[in-house]
Amino acid sequence: MTVDVTAAIFDLDGTLTAPGAIRFEGIRTRIGMPTSGSILAWIAANARDQGERARMEAHVWEEERLALERMELGLGFSALARAIQTRGASLKTAICTRNSGEALVAFDALLRRSGFPPSAELFHVQIARAHFSEHLQREIENKPSHEPVHEIIRRWGLTQRFAPTIAHEHEVPRHTPVLFVGDDVDDCLSARRAGVRSGLIRHGSRAPEQPAFAKAVDRHFDDLSEVAAALTRPPQSG
Ligand SMILES: [Mg+2]
Repeated sequence: MTVDVTAAIFDLDGTLTAPGAIRFEGIRTRIGMPTSGSILAWIAANARDQGERARMEAHVWEEERLALERMELGLGFSALARAIQTRGASLKTAICTRNSGEALVAFDALLRRSGFPPSAELFHVQIARAHFSEHLQREIENKPSHEPVHEIIRRWGLTQRFAPTIAHEHEVPRHTPVLFVGDDVDDCLSARRAGVRSGLIRHGSRAPEQPAFAKAVDRHFDDLSEVAAALTRPPQSG
């Protein structure tokens, strides 16, 4: 069954941009983090004091700054941009990243350099790390929380249609026309916990997923051209 997508949220790093720009393994080695998962959450839980936390986080910020110079558009981005432009006002879009506001600025510059419209024209709402919500009057918790998705739906003005929902990540999504595409388990968890559909983009080479993770994924995409196809309405439909 094809579900009409009326709103799409995209992760930035490794989703809209090519994977590998941020060398997560290098950061994990430098701070002594043994597992995969959210680096910032691991630091918050494992740093012995504020000083160590600041030193560990400094490695993350440095690596992110270096990664901005390596940022490239993800495979199939042209098709995605075309699909978004073709849909016009019938498709709401957003970026949800745990990266910095600087990364969103660098992404905008990359788009313009590459002959695409400004980022804000393609992606109407953009949420980065440390996003202050006017509605909550505090910073939102970022992925894998449901909060960034709720914030985006509010900013789209779609809370009537997609009432803020908190769900378990293994529940069937309630708001099927909203699709959140990302390359990480936390993107899919954030989507499902807010009751929207999750799409995992693999860019060709992903390790096999754990079964618990697989249960939180609604759709699989190899690259952005497949996402573009999912956003493209068949000609006869209104
Ligand atoms: Mg990512």
